[in-house]
Amino acid sequence: MSRAAAVRSRFTPGWGPLLGLVLLFGLSALPGLAQAGRSVAPPRTVYLLRPARVWTAGQAEHAGWVVLVTGETITAVGPADQVAPPPGAKVIDLPGETLIPGLMDLHSHVLLHPYNETLWDDQVLKEAPALRTLRAGVHARDTLMAGFTVLRDLGTEGAGYADVGVRDAIDQGIIRGPRMFVATRAIVALGAYGPAVGRYRPDIDLPQGGQEANGVDGITAAVREQAARGADWIKLYADYRVGPQGEGVPTFTEAELRAAVEVAHSLGRPVAVHTSTTEGLRRAIEAGVDTIEHGYGGTPELFREMAEKHIAYMPTLTAVEATSEYFQGYKPGDPPTPAMAQAAAVFKEALAAGVTIGMGSDVGVFPHGTNWRELEWMVKDGMSPEQALTAATATDAAVLRRARDLGRIAPGYLADLVAMPGDPTADIAATERVNFVMKGGVVYRRP
Ligand SMILES: [Zn+2]
Repeated sequence: MSRAAAVRSRFTPGWGPLLGLVLLFGLSALPGLAQAGRSVAPPRTVYLLRPARVWTAGQAEHAGWVVLVTGETITAVGPADQVAPPPGAKVIDLPGETLIPGLMDLHSHVLLHPYNETLWDDQVLKEAPALRTLRAGVHARDTLMAGFTVLRDLGTEGAGYADVGVRDAIDQGIIRGPRMFVATRAIVALGAYGPAVGRYRPDIDLPQGGQEANGVDGITAAVREQAARGADWIKLYADYRVGPQGEGVPTFTEAELRAAVEVAHSLGRPVAVHTSTTEGLRRAIEAGVDTIEHGYGGTPELFREMAEKHIAYMPTLTAVEATSEYFQGYKPGDPPTPAMAQAAAVFKEALAAGVTIGMGSDVGVFPHGTNWRELEWMVKDGMSPEQALTAATATDAAVLRRARDLGRIAPGYLADLVAMPGDPTADIAATERVNFVMKGGVVYRRP
């Protein structure tokens, strides 16, 4: 079991009786557990990884370094002649490759698939939750195989609490996928999300892509309910395209947002907020949220405030490219659409203001397993390759409150490691070609 799962299990009511059983019957109860698919004591396989070079945030690249992994943990990192592997260590040679920490994407939707395959309304209204969940399992596998070992999944878009099941199926070793931090249904203001009521006959209630809430009591009840049912994060929509002309308008009041944040924080759940308008962003910052998603209405002043308050920003640049392709005829190489130009401009403003910028792509709008597209956009729009890689490793880990055991290559960190031919610090496109993936000391892919 991963440390993430072990930490989570301590708070899972289901483990109380289980621990009781272990106490009653002693350790003889454990083999049965392993058969049930939960590896209580993961095998302590020792691997010596020998890439051409090692990169981790905040350090110059190290040529000729090796990494020793024992069980699920990195136990040594350094020049090959200074790291002595114990007898029996399995050696994995990665000639010509760069080894980096497992990549992270903090804005995903594993329950969605691209809108040019099926429109969002049709996914929510016509696809059975079981079909969507099975497809999400395939998405989780594709994500891991592409070198993304952590996802923060920000809303099931009408698929209820299916993300909790996907997360737990991965933790229990039933399916392959990244470590997942999930937001469950997400919380939207009454009548302020999709499928848009105005597009259908107004006298019917359609299933919604988020949990509708109204007023301070309503929004705090929704936060408590989602936390109880498995949410690691709370996702709120501070604005949406529900203005008289279909333009973006703020949806929750500042008082509603404040109350939701207070309750979520008291329950130990950080808060991620969708905003695309300036006023929605302003209210979210005032409410003390933890991350801003999209932020297309950002201004230099608001970004300075975010930097001061340590509110992180997830730019989701690829989502804008993808929707421009699907709905405006944009093709790669064309001049940017106005929406793409706006997203690029606010990204540059956030960078200049010193905002903590993480990697969050909104994958699901575009195909799972191509999360690297976001890294390429971050570089095209002004980051160095090392800044983009840092965002997708050490910064994202810090946003998840896991800076002590995820996102770096150092002794004591969980062995989430990926490698690719070439050097991503020189050419970010190398991240398209990940061919070695280890998560928690288990090898999922190798050249
Ligand atoms: Zn999203």
